[in-house]
Amino acid sequence: MQLLDGKQTSQDIQQEIAVQVEHILKEGKKKPHLAAILVGNDGASETYVGAKVRACEKVGFDSTLIRLDDSISQENLIAEVEKINQNDNIDGLIVQLPLPAHIDELSVTKAIYPLKDVDGFHPENVGKMTLNIPTFLPATPAGIIELIKRYKIETEGKHCVVIGRSNIVGLPMSILMARNSYPGNCTVTLTHSRTKNLKEICQSADILIVALGRPEYLTEDMVKEGATVIDVGITRVKSDKTKSGWKLKGDVDYTAVADKSSFITPVPGGVGPMTIAMLLKNTLTAVNGFDV
Ligand code: NAD
Repeated sequence: MQLLDGKQTSQDIQQEIAVQVEHILKEGKKKPHLAAILVGNDGASETYVGAKVRACEKVGFDSTLIRLDDSISQENLIAEVEKINQNDNIDGLIVQLPLPAHIDELSVTKAIYPLKDVDGFHPENVGKMTLNIPTFLPATPAGIIELIKRYKIETEGKHCVVIGRSNIVGLPMSILMARNSYPGNCTVTLTHSRTKNLKEICQSADILIVALGRPEYLTEDMVKEGATVIDVGITRVKSDKTKSGWKLKGDVDYTAVADKSSFITPVPGGVGPMTIAMLLKNTLTAVNGFDV
């Protein structure tokens, strides 16, 4: 079994980005600049946005965090997005999800200028991803693709089973693994809460990407000997072994599954840190443009 070390790989990527920022500055250009909008004060969202802002500082980006009250109207939130769309000093914009129930996430996502949409959630960018046209890929799937690439995991002709069909993880993951490219060229099965015989489907997987948000859901009897297992899940569970009283659990029963797998991501230290690295990479792309 080989560990897919997302923490180390993320640090490597951030180091590469920092070098590119130095080049940009030497050319007399301005620092790449990421703006994040945070509506309300949900604890998990605060943590995620905080980590993104700190990562910006680490690689030499400018960052702007715009905090808005959770009573803000959809119209006023979209007006804030518009302001950033018009601001030439800002290269990339993310609106931290989820948004309060009275706001339609799709309307807000659609308001972001597609060339600043570094989360890759705008319908135009989702369409481009589907057609294999260079664009911003959503950060979590992009991080998984990057891990597969850097560890040179074979994908062509493999059966890839994705568990979970969310717009931010499972669905884009299934599209990327089926594309005619590397990583890709897999035969993909996208599974979800209505899937029947999930255990049997998983047992035939060469690559398993698990993103349903249920701690230790994927057990050893669901995994074929030698499979690659990518664990996207992050759930905070109570623990009497940590100072905080909490610990993070993935969607995979790691201890039992690790011995059976050829490659596996840990939680924490797997997909999570890669997500941040890819957000930074997308922001750099917003500055440099796409390779076409
Ligand atoms: P989501 O709640 O939007 O979607 C969950 C999906 O799982 C749904 O499509 C649902 O149909 C499917 N599902 C639920 N129960 C199932 C079952 N019993 N069998 C098969 N499918 C089932 O979740 P999400 O936003 O995609 O997140 C999934 C997990 O990944 C969460 O734990 C989340 O915290 C984590 N996550 C991690 C990162 C990261 O950076 N590491 C990023 C995003 C999400």
